[in-house]
Amino acid sequence: MDVSGPMVRKYLRQFVAEPKKKIRLKKYDTARVPYKELSTESDDEAKTLLQDLLDKNRRELARAQDLLAASGQYSILIVLQGMDTSGKDGTIRHVMSGVNPQGCAVHSFKVPGAEEHAHDFLWRYEKVLPERGMIGIFNRSYYEDVLVVHVHPDRMELLPSAIGPGNTGFWEGRYKDINAFEKHLVRNGTVILKFFLHISKDEQKRRLLDRLSNQEKYWKFSFTDIAERQYWDQYLVAYEEMLSATSTGYAPWFIVPADYKWVARTVVAEAITSAIEGLHLSYPVFPEEKIRELEEAKKGLEQE
Ligand code: ADP
Repeated sequence: MDVSGPMVRKYLRQFVAEPKKKIRLKKYDTARVPYKELSTESDDEAKTLLQDLLDKNRRELARAQDLLAASGQYSILIVLQGMDTSGKDGTIRHVMSGVNPQGCAVHSFKVPGAEEHAHDFLWRYEKVLPERGMIGIFNRSYYEDVLVVHVHPDRMELLPSAIGPGNTGFWEGRYKDINAFEKHLVRNGTVILKFFLHISKDEQKRRLLDRLSNQEKYWKFSFTDIAERQYWDQYLVAYEEMLSATSTGYAPWFIVPADYKWVARTVVAEAITSAIEGLHLSYPVFPEEKIRELEEAKKGLEQE
């Protein structure tokens, strides 16, 4: 059986990293505003239009999620990746504000612990995959295992030298593992949506300075973000290689312009809604007999 990917609206396909194509991130404008309807002279008017757009996102997402949960056939896995400060947390907040929290679980993946390092690299992610009817959001993911550790091999688990990163084809092997893992999930009813929140280095600087200039934002600041910034170019290379190798028809990457937070949030929410709508789900239909039972129950309650 062939596996097909998410059926999103045509307009959203412009963000998809074409499978088998070498991705050059330079060619993707991080500050793009793909919403013509918001171009207006007046800031106030733009703000109102934007608020309407975000509210519409939430309403549509809520409707789509309700149907996903009611039909209980598919699960949705959302993978969020991006440089530090790219807006993963804010995007998750936006998406969560539109869904019933009981139908959605967020998992954040940090530096793996000893037990996690003692297993194969996909183990910790597999344990928390969403069940049918649910949306699972991965804030960082198994893609860290071909990104941060590609840039910093010393942060990787210790593997025997015969199978470790010193061997030719090691990273290609990991991409193949990831592609096979995702194909397996898609074949078994998981819709996978992967978003790379693409910000510029200047925008990262602005966001870090903002955190350092506002005491209420100090808690968001991390010295490691500044330390990692010096590896910006190495990360870009690792991201380009990863995006080129793992954007597939069945689990495509969306390269989301993220210098404007609202653009990133809107694109992600719309892609999720559209992918659920593309499943053409329907609410469960009850047999006659069951409907009679429900009507009896209603009558009984009314007569109480
Ligand atoms: P975040 O930046 O996501 O808000 P943290 O500041 O705690 O959260 O950062 C999590 C850290 O964990 C990041 O530096 C990330 O690179 C690291 N990390 C995540 N997954 C892995 C992994 N598989 N191997 C090594 N480091 C990882």
